[in-house]
Amino acid sequence: MKNLLVMKFGGTSLGSAERMRVAARIVAEEQKKRPVVVVVSAMSRITDLLLDTMRHAEGGNRAAVEANLAALRTRHEETCRELLPPRKRAAMTARIAELIGEFERIVNGMAMLGERPPRSVDEAVVTGEWLSATLISEYLTISGTPAAAVNAREVVVTDAMFGNASPLMEPTREKARARLLPLLEQGVLPVVTGFNGATADGRPTTLGRGGSDFSASILAAVLDASELWIWTDVDGIMSADPRLVPDAEVLPAITYAEAAELAYNGAKVLHPRTLAPLVEKKIPVWSKNSFAPEKPGTKIVPSVAAQSATRAVASMSKVALLSLEPASPELNGVQVMARALDAVARANVEILLLSSSSYRQNFCFLVREEELSRTLEALEAALALELAHHYIEQIHVDRDVGLLAAVGEGMQGKAGLAGRIFTAISRAQVNVIAIAQGSSELTIAVVVRRDGLEKAVRAVHAE
Ligand code: ASP
Ligand code: MG
Repeated sequence: MKNLLVMKFGGTSLGSAERMRVAARIVAEEQKKRPVVVVVSAMSRITDLLLDTMRHAEGGNRAAVEANLAALRTRHEETCRELLPPRKRAAMTARIAELIGEFERIVNGMAMLGERPPRSVDEAVVTGEWLSATLISEYLTISGTPAAAVNAREVVVTDAMFGNASPLMEPTREKARARLLPLLEQGVLPVVTGFNGATADGRPTTLGRGGSDFSASILAAVLDASELWIWTDVDGIMSADPRLVPDAEVLPAITYAEAAELAYNGAKVLHPRTLAPLVEKKIPVWSKNSFAPEKPGTKIVPSVAAQSATRAVASMSKVALLSLEPASPELNGVQVMARALDAVARANVEILLLSSSSYRQNFCFLVREEELSRTLEALEAALALELAHHYIEQIHVDRDVGLLAAVGEGMQGKAGLAGRIFTAISRAQVNVIAIAQGSSELTIAVVVRRDGLEKAVRAVHAE
């Protein structure tokens, strides 16, 4: 399929009947020019609501479950009423009830067991995407763009890491093409659920929170799309978080590597795993604002001429720094590090920064606050013996920290940049706790006290 455009709409871009109309208008306009595949998130805050419902079911809080189910129904029924003409409402309301009924069945199972198995969570949580895909595809169809809702469990094949699965690209390629290309050839626009997939033997999975960007890039890659547009509620990727840096600017163009680094280091516009599937085929991505579609947004491409060495400053405040230090000289520091990292990897925790001082073999690494308890459990289990015998002093945890990352491909081979960054931070009277720069020189990452983070970000951005 030549000149295919994949467009993904996030939750706020589908947050109401009004927003769905705007999204549909954008889709219809592009669809006149070329084939389009749409990928959708759940309506804003719905995924949180679904997950919360399952937690209450596990905890036996029937009243909270009922209240959440009612909220879920109301939100979608209201949207249906405002979106569709009267003659279409009854059928859609019945369909909504049916989908929420399926969700409720799984939730009831969880309440009965007092348990919330990850694979059941994955099966149930996709209800949000399935509802939004159903609503908007119906609206598209009745407003003149024939569309069909497609559940991504029919097209995206993943491993069995429930809650954070990874795609298997070859089988996905086969399934996605077999399911979606015939629709496109018939002039029917596929509206595919973001966020989910299924294992090769059909067990439902999800790609992790915020994963529908990733869904869209997976589909763009396997369908050999010519472009991917990601619609959000901000103007594009910015040179810093505008809440911290008032004069932060929208970047007109950045590279895949820079965008991925920014996403990993806290920029919220793109899911960190989004760009990987696109690199090989060099499929360009646009990050655009559905609340201001006339604005150009940010283009993400393989390479961009550098105007300045550092493209942007990302930051993250909900992080924790863990440090380990072998207390006994007999203990091989590298082995401790290897065992610790292996444990962290098996717990499926992402390390945001890693730094080691070679002489005392102290090493520290940064994780997201929400992954801290999982990380500690994994480390304590893997190093139980060493801890019991005091070969390793306790695992030290510092929650009062923040991460700043200066990102830019232009930093490579340029002397003096690290100096300027650290001088700027010290001029702001902020102390540096840990530092990391990989040899690719794409990112300089710095851990500072949390209360100094904002000042440090402003100082580095200004520099
Ligand atoms: N709805 C899912 C979430 O909230 C996926 C997404 O929005 O990308 O995590
Ligand atoms: Mg999202």
